[in-house]
Amino acid sequence: MEQKLKVGVIGATGYVGQRFITLLENHPWFECVALCASPSSAGKTYEEAVKGRWKIDLPMPEYVKKMVVYSTEDIEEYCKQIDFTFCAVNMKKDEIKALEEKVAKLETPVISNNSANRWTEDVPMIIPEINSDHAALIDAQRKRLGTTRGFIAVKPNCSIQSYVPALTPFLKNGIKAINVCTYQAISGAGKTFDIWPEMVGNVIPFIGGEEEKSEKEPLKVWGQFAGDHIELAQKPLISAQCYRVAVQEGHTAAVSVSFENKPSKEEMISVWNNYESEAVKLGLPSAPKHFLQYLEEDNRPQPKLDAMFENGMGVSVARLRDDIIFDYKFCCLSHNTLRGAAGGGVLSAELLVKKGYITAK
Ligand code: NAP
Repeated sequence: MEQKLKVGVIGATGYVGQRFITLLENHPWFECVALCASPSSAGKTYEEAVKGRWKIDLPMPEYVKKMVVYSTEDIEEYCKQIDFTFCAVNMKKDEIKALEEKVAKLETPVISNNSANRWTEDVPMIIPEINSDHAALIDAQRKRLGTTRGFIAVKPNCSIQSYVPALTPFLKNGIKAINVCTYQAISGAGKTFDIWPEMVGNVIPFIGGEEEKSEKEPLKVWGQFAGDHIELAQKPLISAQCYRVAVQEGHTAAVSVSFENKPSKEEMISVWNNYESEAVKLGLPSAPKHFLQYLEEDNRPQPKLDAMFENGMGVSVARLRDDIIFDYKFCCLSHNTLRGAAGGGVLSAELLVKKGYITAK
């Protein structure tokens, strides 16, 4: 790329926003030039705005410290600075929908981590290694919005980003049913143990809205592109339980699955270890060389040991074994604020650049 595209982050002061800021330092295609957050952060330098609430385990990059944060109330001015934006905010759903649509109508593509637009019919919900063809929905969306450049693309919920990648290669085997229990890190709620001490040594068997997302979003990701919408996959049946556990980073999923045509264990392990990723073939800078890995040890994957596989962009699978109710059960893990949030957002943006949907203004 001759000149880097100018990008901004809405929600730059939050947990996911902080991840974006670290991922965008020295990115080969993108330069982060503008930051936006709530009116309470606006007008402050980034350093001041996040004072005492830098939450991630890497130092704050120098490039961002003196940048002055825009308010979402000044979104027109913010959009003038950038070619496209990432968005990860904690606001009411209808406010997020309105904000994202406003930014798209200001001819600024939005790559969103929020759930508000995931079920908007002409908004693609992308995992680049799985359903990059859904990006073509953007053409219909631009017609509806009346834009030439602007659009919204989203990434799916962090909870599905281990078992959906692990099971996608076996859709051809006719997956009948999936039973999944997720064990989700506290960073998924934008928290650290310092600000959520009640979570130390604890498990909470409820995360608002998460079970529904975990059961339904895979059906859009696995759906068929149909011009101005996605024809949702009719199967498999998915039943999910989502628990918050005392882990900082990394969502684990315990999965049971049954097939119409059951693959052998050897075939499943070989497919996982040899997954050919379209994102790698397209040369996307953030694409993990290995999207999936199978670990032979019985006590893996573990968030502390495996969440950072492939810089937090790879998915680890292990403990594949027979099940007496389903065909098989296994365990899988992905990094929730990298693969499941900011890293997935950056990779989606790279895909949309490659496909010509994001360009310089
Ligand atoms: P967070 O740490 O609580 O950060 C929230 C951000 O939203 C902050 O930058 C905050 O700005 C901003 N904000 C709040 N109210 C606002 C307003 N009225 N106008 C403009 N900005 C406002 O949350 P997070 O964990 O980063 O999550 C952000 C989004 O990403 C959520 O939609 C979440 O569901 C989604 N997500 C999170 C994860 C994860 O693993 N954490 C994964 C996937 C998706 P101030 O600092 O100025 O208040």
